[in-house]
Amino acid sequence: MRAQPKASHFIDGEYVEDTAGNVIECVYPATGEVIARLHSATPAIVEKAIASAKAAQKAWAKMSPTARGRILYRASQIIRERNRELCELETLDTGKPIQETIVADSTSGADAMEFFGGVAPAALNGEQIPLGGDWAYTKRVPLGIVLGIGAWNYPQQIACWKAAPALVAGNAFIFKPSEVTPLGALKIAEIMIEAGLPKGLFNVVQGDRDAGPLLVNHPEIAKVSLTGSVPTGRKVAGAAAGQLKHVTMELGGKSPMIVFDDADVESAISGAMLGNFYSAGQVCSNGTRVFVQKGIKDQFLSRLKTRTEAIRMGEPLDEATQMGPLVNRSQREKVLGYIEKGKAEGARLLTGGGIPNDVSSEGCFVQPTVFADVTDDMTIAREEIFGPVMCVLDFDHEDEVIARANASEFGLAGGVFTADMARAHRVVDALEAGTVWINTYNLCPVEIPFGGVKQSGFGRENSLAALNHYTELKTVYVAMGKCEAPY
Ligand code: NAD
Repeated sequence: MRAQPKASHFIDGEYVEDTAGNVIECVYPATGEVIARLHSATPAIVEKAIASAKAAQKAWAKMSPTARGRILYRASQIIRERNRELCELETLDTGKPIQETIVADSTSGADAMEFFGGVAPAALNGEQIPLGGDWAYTKRVPLGIVLGIGAWNYPQQIACWKAAPALVAGNAFIFKPSEVTPLGALKIAEIMIEAGLPKGLFNVVQGDRDAGPLLVNHPEIAKVSLTGSVPTGRKVAGAAAGQLKHVTMELGGKSPMIVFDDADVESAISGAMLGNFYSAGQVCSNGTRVFVQKGIKDQFLSRLKTRTEAIRMGEPLDEATQMGPLVNRSQREKVLGYIEKGKAEGARLLTGGGIPNDVSSEGCFVQPTVFADVTDDMTIAREEIFGPVMCVLDFDHEDEVIARANASEFGLAGGVFTADMARAHRVVDALEAGTVWINTYNLCPVEIPFGGVKQSGFGRENSLAALNHYTELKTVYVAMGKCEAPY
């Protein structure tokens, strides 16, 4: 098996196994080949991870932010040096084309390590509050042990986006990758040790849907940061609420992208394709409802069809491949089911809609698919598909499109393409979304906050804002005179 790690879990600086846990089979989605076999965590593994994190956290929190940041910076350098090796593993784990992983996955994790390592010495400062003679000050203190739970679309990036702010703030971090893509996080854990992180501060515990709750419900876990679907978010936030734990919820979306008549049409099509076909459509913030103003509809659809049909699908490890398979068979069946529903409910299939015939029959490929004439009530316009399926809807007026864009339980992201900047900012103000892009889509550099509103979650990743979610404020009141009491 070409990607078999030394053992399933990484705890206290070393690989650990417990074969009593349920078997997790790792399959390369492009061919169906089994590339590794792991075990889900048993209660003994969970206890070991917690004990090691607890033992390491207090000394780590006492180190200066500069010293902690230096270790993260070293980790970012090692990730960049090993980018190809890490991305080949990421491609095997997820099926995403190497053309993408090489620029968007491990390096994005490295960016988070570099950014949080760099800002920590200043960003963790408290404030001094004058009160006349007396005064107060605040300290930003770590929470303790933070649990990160990952989705399967960006395994290494998600691990790093959560670990970097958690660690630099003085917490210990335990990561539970998705059971569908468990491999990359183990390599990141190895690199953290190599960079000088004391053992126990970055533990990886594998787990399926049984093991996840063991971690979430553990009383030593102070905070849970989940990236996953809305139903999982409800379960995890509910369990965490039972013990009043801190939570960050990065959940799903059905984001609108609005293209006005005056937009640069080729640029808007690029945005729509990026926001629907990157990672074979398995991106939470994708702009899956593309609203196109009627004046440019025909031009937009005709060029979109031509450009979509030119996408090169194939073996993900081939650098020329632009789109790979979905992550597994069940995701492919789910996506094909939505395509059938789209047809049955009257959407017009512009292109795609099936399994391509020039790729491995064992792979989980689905053609890049575009539906036109989609209406708001159709299932494909309401539910998150998480596959390469773009819905194009028509609109006439700005007010109308804003109301329709907001008529969703989700609120992760949105986009607006127009040459009129006043209108762009008006639309941005009106959209109910955590992130809105003007004349581009899906760019998420580490400097900017990322997260959702409504059912898409709460809390923010990346940027200085993330540090607020991994620390709490301690307030210290300093009396300069005697303590006076009325009795
Ligand atoms: P999922 O909800 O099925 O699983 C996410 C993780 O939660 C997995 O690690 C899983 O094992 C774990 N889990 C499931 N039930 C649990 C429980 N009861 N207790 C603890 N852990 C539990 O999501 P997925 O299918 O892996 O990923 C796709 C979803 O993730 C999509 O909805 C997508 O939009 C969302 N997503 C969101 C973001 C974001 O930043 N907002 C990013 C990527 C993906």
